[in-house]
Amino acid sequence: MFVVGLTGGIGSGKSTVANLFAMRGVPLIDTDLIAHRITAPRGIAMPHIAAEFGEEFVAADGSLDRARMRSLVFSDEAARKRLEGITHPLIRAETEREQHEAHGPYVMVVVPLLVESGTWKERVNRVLTVDCTVETQIARVMNRNGFSREQVLAIIARQATREARLAAADDVIFNDNVPLEELEMQVDATHHAYLADAMK
Ligand code: ADP
Repeated sequence: MFVVGLTGGIGSGKSTVANLFAMRGVPLIDTDLIAHRITAPRGIAMPHIAAEFGEEFVAADGSLDRARMRSLVFSDEAARKRLEGITHPLIRAETEREQHEAHGPYVMVVVPLLVESGTWKERVNRVLTVDCTVETQIARVMNRNGFSREQVLAIIARQATREARLAAADDVIFNDNVPLEELEMQVDATHHAYLADAMK
């Protein structure tokens, strides 16, 4: 199966663009959803997390105590690495399982942290970056999430830079001050190129 990895910073328009591909019949695999599912009640990561961090990180319903884990890994880089050591291989395995089960001309894996975390670039045939300016990211996320400018800047500071994401890209969809019709035209052109690639 031909696999496209879709990435972009927070507020770049990843979900918007991913949905436009889905409307064209491309199956989506969302790694954020997988991350959530494996740490939900009876999620496959939970026994490993309990063993590594202790039962106090497991909520009453058997899911991850997200607030507690967030406050731990926020200040403790080693703990973050230990958590990722559990979750990342499981997310990759689940992604591969979904890829095998997917029916479509090609499959799109949405990986917000494709550039930041490890080996994704080697796991996909093409990297597609959704690009916009930092100012646009800030405005959109303040508007979407009701965050302050400082809160958005703090999130952006923990992500790869715009330049790093562009450097990692095989293809780019520019989504800054772009009306929906123009975004759709970019998606159509990219989609047709992928259809051709997938048939090679
Ligand atoms: P991401 O998934 O990368 O965080 P989203 O797709 O959720 O980004 O987009 C962030 C916000 O900006 C959403 O509220 C979305 O509706 C809006 N948005 C994205 N692209 C555009 C665009 N071209 N024109 C207008 N609004 C947009």
